[in-house]
Amino acid sequence: DKQMKQIEDKRAKSRIFKKDSSFLKAEENVFDVPTLKLLYSFANKGYINELGGSISTGKEANVFYATGNEGEVAVKIYRINSSTFKAMDPYILKDPRFTHIRHSRKDIIFAWTQKEYQNLLRISKAGIRAPRPITCDRNVLIMEFMGENGVAYPSLKDVKMDDEDARIFYDQIIEDMRRMYVRASLVHADLSEYNILIDIEKGEAVIIDVGQAVTLNHPNAREFLLRDVENIKRFFRKYGIEEETKSILEQIKQK
Ligand code: ATP
Ligand code: MN
Repeated sequence: DKQMKQIEDKRAKSRIFKKDSSFLKAEENVFDVPTLKLLYSFANKGYINELGGSISTGKEANVFYATGNEGEVAVKIYRINSSTFKAMDPYILKDPRFTHIRHSRKDIIFAWTQKEYQNLLRISKAGIRAPRPITCDRNVLIMEFMGENGVAYPSLKDVKMDDEDARIFYDQIIEDMRRMYVRASLVHADLSEYNILIDIEKGEAVIIDVGQAVTLNHPNAREFLLRDVENIKRFFRKYGIEEETKSILEQIKQK
């Protein structure tokens, strides 16, 4: 249609969508016109100068690498037509910050994007290593790229480490959970070896994927915290780390 034609014309002129970009392939079926327009507006504002390859295609979102005025960034784009968006409901409709939102698919996804941005801000302010949020609008979030020269840090699940290294990361992750709880008043609610990246050079864990993180007054906060703790325990068991859930919870709640 006419709108699409305009976008195509713009695209031909723009440098942000390179011919070989995996974005072009993904975009044909995945992104709607308003999402493409939004990306152009981010380009006009300098947040994106060049959109690079796809980093990940998840259940609800695609993550792309890009460079812009802030350096290397990750562009997380929630798909409006994501089939699993219903799964978002418990994490957002009961979060006291978001109880007033309309329940349409689009509104939930937009609120989710806002929530991830706000959560990243709170988490960064709490002294936890996490992507610094840069900007967001509608279904697109731009954040600091956690990696170097276009290569993202590996996730915890893919890092080869001995028991001694594992202990260091374990302690750090429990401390991150404490800061998240005590300083940011948040529970991650999807914490696992998949949502923790490792900066090997600095020996630091990086917490990502915080869209579903809830405030402590969320009715399921306790249950989500317990699940996070069990995930972390399960992962580190193979490195000889065994700690009582009760003792871990005490550490996390320690002011
Ligand atoms: P999933 O559905 O697979 O859980 P998701 O769609 O919720 O994922 P994320 O977990 O936030 O999205 O990101 C998916 C992957 O993209 C991560 O595992 C990580 O490899 C990469 N990634 C996300 N954010 C960043 C970032 N800021 N810097 C570098 N890589 C990132
Ligand atoms: Mn994830």
